[in-house]
Amino acid sequence: MKTHIEINAMNLLNNLRLFKESTNKKLMFVVKANAYGHGLKEIIEITKTSPLVEQYAVDSLPEALLIASLQPKKPILVLGWTDQDELEELIAHGFETTVPSAEHLRWVKNISKKLKRKALIHLKIETGTNRLGLAPEKAISLLQGINEQNIEIRGIYSHFANVEDTSDPAFARKQMALFNSVLPYLPSSRILKHFSSSASTLLFPETFFDIVRIGISAYGYWPSRQTHALYLEKNKKTMSLEPVLSWFSNVAQIKEVKKGAAIGYGLTYKTFNKARIAVVPLGYYDGYDRKLSNVSQVLIHGVKAPVRGRICMNMFMVEVTHIKNVKVGDRVTILGSENAEKVDADMLAEWSGTINYEILARINPFIPRFVV
Ligand SMILES: *Cc1c(COP(=O)(O)O)cnc(C)c1O
Repeated sequence: MKTHIEINAMNLLNNLRLFKESTNKKLMFVVKANAYGHGLKEIIEITKTSPLVEQYAVDSLPEALLIASLQPKKPILVLGWTDQDELEELIAHGFETTVPSAEHLRWVKNISKKLKRKALIHLKIETGTNRLGLAPEKAISLLQGINEQNIEIRGIYSHFANVEDTSDPAFARKQMALFNSVLPYLPSSRILKHFSSSASTLLFPETFFDIVRIGISAYGYWPSRQTHALYLEKNKKTMSLEPVLSWFSNVAQIKEVKKGAAIGYGLTYKTFNKARIAVVPLGYYDGYDRKLSNVSQVLIHGVKAPVRGRICMNMFMVEVTHIKNVKVGDRVTILGSENAEKVDADMLAEWSGTINYEILARINPFIPRFVV
């Protein structure tokens, strides 16, 4: 197999358990973006009967439909934007929808009347991210006009703009104050209040409300370096989050090249000496970003092998001059650990100028996933 991914079920469940134990709240497991690149189907199969997960959150209708086809007995919240056609299908299937505007609420009302089916909604409050959401005053006036015959308010939520990139919670506090200003107007105490994603759940208990929305850290990654540093400062020890995903390939071809040979498109790397080069049969189409050209590393026989030349669409080259007896078919670790060495999504993110979220989310969904 050219490339495959292994999903460690035990690590995933352990990470979720750490959150359950540290918060003592319900967990909403965020599985958008193909479960952060891990494979939505595989991740649902692992967690669908787990009491650790109260409900799932996705971005869009197709993701919700895929989850529903696997029949977990858990609610599914669509966090993202849906147009009217999608909204109708979403309500018809009994999924929970985010209401981010007065116009959207009118659509929900019309559709629930038409379908004679109760719509399940979560109001999304704008508190400072200036993304989707209703201004607090607007939310308060809309709450008074919601007829609970057609619409069931399942939840109310907001999202932090600045908890990952800073250790200063001042902006988060302002956002919480705006959110709190709406809560006295809720018609029932059963309505789930939620605000917290991984970073704030790791750091600030006052953000937990009724349920916490956990994405990146369920998959074993810290939201950012700052989050980890502040966590260590507060707790004097780390939390043993373990990556869930490993990514492998196999050596496709090996060649001996002369001193001064150019490797790959654009001749961007020239060997300093006689060298041995191995071809790895995956590329930027698979989610191995072209910005990793000439800077990234893989593991072969547990030893780091540097990328030489540009990442191509479906392959790239690494140098193995320093690694003995590399043969065609030998395992190449793209993401994972081997002996004392590792390559993780934080390293790929640093090398390509992005965040671990993007590294994981962009791994091609077509790559076969195996649960181990
Ligand atoms: C993606 C997302 C989350 C999860 O965030 P993590 O940082 O991955 O835990 C939570 N809430 C909303 C609204 C999101 O879009």
